[in-house]
Amino acid sequence: MKYLLVMALVLVVFWIWRNNRDTERRDAAPVRPPAPQKPGTAITEIVACEVCGVHLPKTEALIGSKGIYCSEAHRRQARD
Ligand SMILES: [Zn+2]
Repeated sequence: MKYLLVMALVLVVFWIWRNNRDTERRDAAPVRPPAPQKPGTAITEIVACEVCGVHLPKTEALIGSKGIYCSEAHRRQARD
């Protein structure tokens, strides 16, 4: 019976030691730096549609005489 207790104690100590080691290893893992962005995609200007106010990248926007629009329909709507 005494040996069983010692055995259980050893198992518990081993289990705690292993858990601590795993936690330490996780904490020590190097933090991956953010992936470098491709040149040209780093800065995307966001603009708002004059009609509906939706925000979209300037590269996808349609530029009309009175402002910037999200779609051809809204550009036409603004012209009328
Ligand atoms: Zn719109």
